[in-house]
Amino acid sequence: MKRVRVVVVGAGVVGFSTAVCIAEALPPCSVTLLGDRFSPDTTSDGAAGLMFTAQFPDVPLETQRRWFQLSFDHLLHIAQSEVAPEAGVMLSSGWQIFRDVPAEQKPFWSDFVIGFRFMSDGELKRFPDHKFGHAFTTIKCECSSYLPWLEKRFRKAGGWVEQRRVESLQELSSSYDIIVNCSGLGSRELASDEAVQPVRGQVLKMKAPWLKHFIRDGDGMTYIYPGIHSVIVGGTRQEGDWRLQVDEGDTRSILERCSRLEPSLRRARVLSQWVGLRPSRRNPRVERELLQLQGRSMPVVHNYGHGGVGVTLAWGTALDALGLVRQSLHEMQRQAKL
Ligand SMILES: Cc1cc2nc3c(=O)[nH]c(=O)nc-3n(C[C@H](O)[C@H](O)[C@H](O)COP(=O)(O)OP(=O)(O)OC[C@H]3O[C@@H](n4cnc5c(N)ncnc54)[C@H](O)[C@@H]3O)c2cc1C
Repeated sequence: MKRVRVVVVGAGVVGFSTAVCIAEALPPCSVTLLGDRFSPDTTSDGAAGLMFTAQFPDVPLETQRRWFQLSFDHLLHIAQSEVAPEAGVMLSSGWQIFRDVPAEQKPFWSDFVIGFRFMSDGELKRFPDHKFGHAFTTIKCECSSYLPWLEKRFRKAGGWVEQRRVESLQELSSSYDIIVNCSGLGSRELASDEAVQPVRGQVLKMKAPWLKHFIRDGDGMTYIYPGIHSVIVGGTRQEGDWRLQVDEGDTRSILERCSRLEPSLRRARVLSQWVGLRPSRRNPRVERELLQLQGRSMPVVHNYGHGGVGVTLAWGTALDALGLVRQSLHEMQRQAKL
């Protein structure tokens, strides 16, 4: 059988993770990644990249646990190796705090992060507006380093990369045998899926090298994430808002909320500001369909709609997408024998 040609659309953390998984696991395939924006210009590049997740309503909990665990183990392995600084992956310890005791005190991912426990009364004294909290060690993955590192790994596995905008999946049908769609918000057009919606997020990068622990309000609105070169503070969650410009009102609100949690931030310098649009969906779409494209039945594997947790879940969902590509390959081989 001739070499099967796979194309992955999307150069964010989901696209590159998926492309690496396919290229490394399936050497009989030639794998090309197409994207109209690459690092440092993707949404993934600006993400704070702290690993923990929300629960999606309609994805079986077992699947969500597996996505989280596979991603955590993959990034932990990198964080504890000599490639960690180049890949931008580090361990990060800190607190998630709540104004009221949440209905679910122990989230499903608590078994996979390191040293998860409830905060003591002594620790909570620092946060007088908050009654309850989690302390744990997780991972921070900085995509401005991680994406170029993944691209190198992909090329080493024989992958090809091309910067190009895809107007429709139709145009790929004559050059490829399997399409993998990781186009995030672009899936509104490419997969005609209006269920993917932008959720605008604004963050500031600050110089505060004395801060070593993350602090996250459990409502997901306010967070302080120390990283390798700076501290990311945020944020906003504005649904259906397409604005990519910095909003001065949001800047003031972020600084005010974060300084209330960590007063030393009032003395810190703002290095830069950034806005990104989370590709949100009720549930991420990780599934396969057969599309009739230019009179030919083609397998299309979708992997998009990760919302505010794409860095966290990218590797786990990429492995599921790999399984769907493998399934398509088996079917093609069976048909070739008939
Ligand atoms: C402020 C903020 C903070 C965040 N913090 C975290 C965090 O702490 N932890 C976490 O896990 N997640 C976080 N996220 C979420 C995370 O950024 C996203 O879930 C993730 O980046 C989605 O990755 P993606 O690859 O699907 O999309 P993207 O990074 O947007 O990549 C999509 C790719 O598809 C390409 N594309 C789209 N349409 C086409 C087309 N027609 N033709 C060719 N190419 C196309 C784009 O050019 C791009 O290369 C945050 C997001 C924001 C905005």
